[in-house]
Amino acid sequence: MKLLEERILKDGKISKGNVLKVDSFLNHQLDVSLLSEIGAELKNKYGDCGITKILTIEASGIGVGCMVAQFFNCPLIFAKKTKTINIKGDVYKSSVESFTHQCVYDIIVSKDFLTSDDTVLIVDDFLAKGNALNGLIDIVNQSGAHLAGCGIAIEKAFQGGGDKLRSKGIRVESMAIIEEMDCENGSITFGTRN
Ligand code: 5GP
Repeated sequence: MKLLEERILKDGKISKGNVLKVDSFLNHQLDVSLLSEIGAELKNKYGDCGITKILTIEASGIGVGCMVAQFFNCPLIFAKKTKTINIKGDVYKSSVESFTHQCVYDIIVSKDFLTSDDTVLIVDDFLAKGNALNGLIDIVNQSGAHLAGCGIAIEKAFQGGGDKLRSKGIRVESMAIIEEMDCENGSITFGTRN
């Protein structure tokens, strides 16, 4: 998506540890019009897949997830992060290693909201090593739902997570794909897949 690439070049800031800060439009302040364009584009790509649920992970996936869900006219579920050992109720649970906080946390989704009747589109703001998506895919598999694929705002392809998933046959559509990002001179190079 040209619009998203241009916005990344204009407002993105490269931090230490291969982190791209996009707080002004995606991760703190939200540009709702831009999120809506992402929703429309994902509807173009997955519109014929019979999606019944959008699944994301709190907190930064919720904004983009809401906009996508509006285009598919279906509910958004966000996996909750928890450090609680005794989880009450009937939940699917998986573990995720955090890219940004460098810790491992559990994610849970209530069995009330995801069943084998569902067809799921997983959505997130970023794809780096693929840990968050792997946790969400694990939850979809536990539920017996069908996974249509993943829709990502920004994929950092140089961290490999997206291509690993694609090589396993999982459909991954990213609205901006960063091939290279240089902390020293601030340069960002975009690429494509498929
Ligand atoms: P992964 O699990 O694929 O390694 O990383 C994806 C998750 O880490 C996303 O849910 C996102 O919240 C966070 N993340 C990864 N890389 C970045 C980044 O460069 N910037 C920001 N803001 N978040 C990131």
